[in-house]
Amino acid sequence: MILDSVSYGRLVDNLNDGLYIVDRDRIIQYWNKAAERISGFTSAEVVGKSCSDNILTHVDCSGNCLCREMCPLAMTMIDGAARESEIYLHHKDGHRIQVSVRSSTITDESGGVIGAAELFTDISNLRYNELKVKELEEMALLDNLTRLANRHYIEKDLAGCFEEKKRIDFPFGILFMDIDHFKEFNDTYGHDVGDLVLKCVADTLVKNARPFDLIGRWGGEEFIGILRNVSLMQLEDFGNRLRILVESSYIQAEHDKLHVTVSIGATLVCSDDTMDTIIKRADTLMYESKRLGRNCLTLG
Ligand code: GH3
Ligand code: MG
Ligand code: MG
Repeated sequence: MILDSVSYGRLVDNLNDGLYIVDRDRIIQYWNKAAERISGFTSAEVVGKSCSDNILTHVDCSGNCLCREMCPLAMTMIDGAARESEIYLHHKDGHRIQVSVRSSTITDESGGVIGAAELFTDISNLRYNELKVKELEEMALLDNLTRLANRHYIEKDLAGCFEEKKRIDFPFGILFMDIDHFKEFNDTYGHDVGDLVLKCVADTLVKNARPFDLIGRWGGEEFIGILRNVSLMQLEDFGNRLRILVESSYIQAEHDKLHVTVSIGATLVCSDDTMDTIIKRADTLMYESKRLGRNCLTLG
């Protein structure tokens, strides 16, 4: 044996991947440093709680909650099979983080299942975004509250997209996203809580975008996504995924989960478009989503 149990513990604690271990009743027994970093929850906050206790509240890309019937750890403990999937966990700050998850059973010497372990890797857009944020901050192109690209940067990026469209016929699409009933939310919970939710929405959007796309704050409670090289169907799928992730992001208040939804207008660039016409079209489509009942996407 090369490692004694202390070195072994240190090794596991310092893994780059999040690791947690539950017993047969799904009570969390161990939570490593990377799990703290990725989720925002400290070991002291989660050890002793059930993994279905409002902590990570895993959802899949359709927004289905996996903590009850579809918990990968519970299923692994039932059939003994290791599982691998990509899911979205709830960060303590409220936004959703995409992680790749592997679960497997832990057995005693006689092979009886005594618990399960879940190893999760952060596959969100986080790392890239950290670099980008620094760059934008230096050029005063960052929105102070949400730390997303500001309107000025969105316009610069869009101008670049039109240039690429002209030169090499590179297509792109726009998502215009507006928070639903946000005035009412502010009136109910206060402007400061409104700011927290706005930031949470921004984080979910930017951390789940593809690295070469841009998500920025257009103003107030409006965001724009610029997606390069997409088909209409991909734009719709991607927009709906963001919409569902916003819907399933929440800030934990004392008794309530506070969350908002977004209405989206989605459109691809046309040959005679200008910056004004494409944004106007996306904005009009977004209003159509409002008219249709909100928390939906209209494509056009
Ligand atoms: P709709 O579903 O039709 O979009 O309704 P709405 O209430 O979101 O729309 P409206 O345009 O009437 O209100 C937008 C609200 O967004 C009003 C404003 O107080 C709030 N808002 C804009 N920027 C911020 C901000 O930076 N922080 C907070 N907390 N609220 C903001
Ligand atoms: Mg608005
Ligand atoms: Mg609104």
